[in-house]
Amino acid sequence: MRKLKLLSVASEAYPLLKTGGLADVTGALPEALAREGVSVKTMLPGYPAVLEALERPRTVWKVTDLFGGPARVLAGQGGGLDVLAVDAPHLFARSGNPYLGPDGRDWADNAVRFAALSRVAADVGLGVVAGFRPDVVHAHDWQAGLAATYLHFAAGKRPATVMTVHNLAFPGKFEPGLLGTLGLPVAAFGVEGVEFYGAISLLKAGLVYADRITTVSPTYAAEIRMPEFGMGFDGLLRARAGVVSGILNGIDTDIWNPANDGLIPARFDAGNLGKRAANKAALQARMGLAVNPEAPLFAVVSRLSWQKGIDLLLAELPELARHGAQLAVLGSGEAALEARMAGAVAPGRIGCVIRYDEALAHLMQAGADALLVPSRFEPCGLTQLCALRYGCVPVVSRVGGLADTVIDANAAAVSAGVATGVQFTLEQLGAAIARTVTLYRDRRVWSAMQANGMKADVSWAGPARAYAALYRGLVG
Ligand code: ADP
Repeated sequence: MRKLKLLSVASEAYPLLKTGGLADVTGALPEALAREGVSVKTMLPGYPAVLEALERPRTVWKVTDLFGGPARVLAGQGGGLDVLAVDAPHLFARSGNPYLGPDGRDWADNAVRFAALSRVAADVGLGVVAGFRPDVVHAHDWQAGLAATYLHFAAGKRPATVMTVHNLAFPGKFEPGLLGTLGLPVAAFGVEGVEFYGAISLLKAGLVYADRITTVSPTYAAEIRMPEFGMGFDGLLRARAGVVSGILNGIDTDIWNPANDGLIPARFDAGNLGKRAANKAALQARMGLAVNPEAPLFAVVSRLSWQKGIDLLLAELPELARHGAQLAVLGSGEAALEARMAGAVAPGRIGCVIRYDEALAHLMQAGADALLVPSRFEPCGLTQLCALRYGCVPVVSRVGGLADTVIDANAAAVSAGVATGVQFTLEQLGAAIARTVTLYRDRRVWSAMQANGMKADVSWAGPARAYAALYRGLVG
């Protein structure tokens, strides 16, 4: 099989820089793709954190004026990735959050900053770096949305392009007067092009001009063609339905491995689930809950946002209490929800830690009985994949990747011995809590669900195979 060369373009990649799930995907896929015969170079903005991490950087291309200043492409290894960093100090030599200034607002020149990333990606796609001409340019989210656009309007032979949407809620919307500044032809403006309700959307640019569109679960791929989930892009996605597909995310099964996890008090596997009891007790103590092995312990590990349905959960706290259940919440996000969650703390029954805490997230998954995910929409969701791996039964709303990764414990699935969790529609959250507690009280059924979940393949192997097949289909 011929080795494929891929240029992955994104604004973040773990471990170099991460603000969300996007970084997990762009950071993990290259290694998994290597096993599928796809060699990946990852193009990132030359933020300070990225440049500092580059080992033995070499300048492989220079340009005197990239949207108002000189720039070069630095090649090197960083964080286990083969990186091409766009070193453009006038755009990227800013520390802190990659999108926001110190005042917490978007940098005023974000359109230009990410157009620059995409412009250089397109140029690399066209072969400006000696010895590297990618077969496919794979752009992630709006920050890389213009890569396919520039390639579409370029003369001559170009690589195939793939646009992946990690969350349609971020359109990368800017004022229409920027068209010329971004180097886009007049022909690109209009409903058939980058125009989005009178503005320019860099995400739409990618969705219009990429050869293929993917998103991070099959169900989300179907949902986003409907007005309820389409965020204004559903018409376009219906028109392009033939090139839209969903490929699930995976998780790093070395980092998330309960048999070998240094962040939890008691390591375990599917064969000795009894050891989870020590983790449950540790979690109860940590969260100020009564240390009671019999109480069903629900956990939430989440951004606290409207998307994640945290307000819906708050409304169901009496239902949890009615069933003698406990709740442990780890999350941060919208100030109002943080305050409401903190205000809901009830010693012995409801505990809450408001921050991002990777280590505590491991203890939550290892010690809680069930992980509650009442999302209104969920492109893929990673937290339920971690839960499956840790014998923590996911209780999830039936949307997006949650629908694709959890097998509901309905009568048929229980009798066939394949159930891994509970699914609900949002208006049934209370009933789902009741149903989960009933399942929990049936020890035989519950441990079968835990064991089934732990057997599920949540690694990157399957997704990498699917991406490799997609690339090969494009290249021929
Ligand atoms: P999203 O990317 O929409 O926030 P995902 O479920 O796809 O949601 O990915 C978020 C990841 O970050 C999950 O693995 C989740 O467990 C983790 N996470 C979310 N909030 C926290 C937190 N406060 N502390 C630790 N991990 C968190």
